[in-house]
Amino acid sequence: MGKSPRVLVVNSGSSSLKYQLVEPETATAVTSGLVERIGEPGGVADHGEALREALDALEPLDEAGIVAVGHRVVHGGPDFGAPVLADDEVVAKIHALIPLAPLHNPANVRGIEVARELLPDVPHVVVFDTAFFHTLPEAAATYAIDTEVAQEHGVRRYGFHGTSHQFVAHAAAELVGRPVEELNQIVCHLGNGASVSAVRGGVAVETSMGLTPLEGLVMGTRSGDIDAGIVFHLARTAGMSIDELDVLLNRRSGLKGLAGVNDFREVHRLIAEGSQAAQLALDVYLHRLRKYLGAYLAVLGGVDVITFTAGVGENDDAVRAGALAGLERLGIVLDPERNAGRVKEPTIISADGYPVTVAVVPTNEELAIARQALALT
Ligand code: ADP
Repeated sequence: MGKSPRVLVVNSGSSSLKYQLVEPETATAVTSGLVERIGEPGGVADHGEALREALDALEPLDEAGIVAVGHRVVHGGPDFGAPVLADDEVVAKIHALIPLAPLHNPANVRGIEVARELLPDVPHVVVFDTAFFHTLPEAAATYAIDTEVAQEHGVRRYGFHGTSHQFVAHAAAELVGRPVEELNQIVCHLGNGASVSAVRGGVAVETSMGLTPLEGLVMGTRSGDIDAGIVFHLARTAGMSIDELDVLLNRRSGLKGLAGVNDFREVHRLIAEGSQAAQLALDVYLHRLRKYLGAYLAVLGGVDVITFTAGVGENDDAVRAGALAGLERLGIVLDPERNAGRVKEPTIISADGYPVTVAVVPTNEELAIARQALALT
């Protein structure tokens, strides 16, 4: 078997555990898998059993050995701005952050705990989805609410998808053949969840997600930005509870709320069938994205590279074209042929001879986590 070191990347969710065995040095995924229905009827009992199942599946491949485990953790709160080795203290700190990420961090913690038990002889490295945005300037990270309340409850903008934004910003710099330190970049991570970031010289200076992943762009099922007054209005007039509002804004909104479907392939199919609701969903989605692009152009004072990534960004040429239509005066012009269709590897899609390079870079969060884990071992 291969001599290149391998890192097991674990993404432990509330009812599922995703894993991938990665060779960071050759950028290869040796194998990957998903254990679903944790704690549900017909599924495995708990995260320990899920990981045991994953390790059983890896067994025949395991001859070269796993040199480290990389764990994806959604919320690093104010403490973590870089990957860390998971010791008891770190696990306790992530546990303490559960109020900031009640849906994600508990399962992330369970994943780390069971993996440390089952693989006690290798280092475990935690990579936070918020870490890349630790550099946000105070002006970008601060909500204009009562300072004491904000400080007591950790209310500030943290940002998410950081591993992807960082990976893509570096890969885009490589693609255009310039040092990341010299570039002003905008990265559009458009998946089911979606966020956009402004990156100056490789350092994040703005991003669209905030305290939670709900802020910012229109997403598959999330509203993105709304007037917070909507929450009071619906609580008072519709008698909706906090939990109902949480479900409304996180799961019944976005494309799903407007068009009834959250997958862009379905949105386009409905538009082709004449659905005005689906057309409006696309229009609202693109309008929001364009507002952010304009804002980040101003935040950066000009941009060198705009990059699309994730399921929508990599596959949907209509979204890419719609997001950047009519921006010739800003030096942003797509080449329709280069932009056409799904993009499977880092590709420049702008026309030659304009100041702004537009690119598509497939994201690879597992590889990014594996590299960061290996770097710490
Ligand atoms: P997640 O946030 O779950 O990681 P992904 O980055 O995998 O999401 O993106 C999933 C989304 O990508 C789908 O909901 C769909 O909207 C979009 N998508 C995937 N394939 C295509 C395609 N061929 N054309 C248009 N959109 C696509």
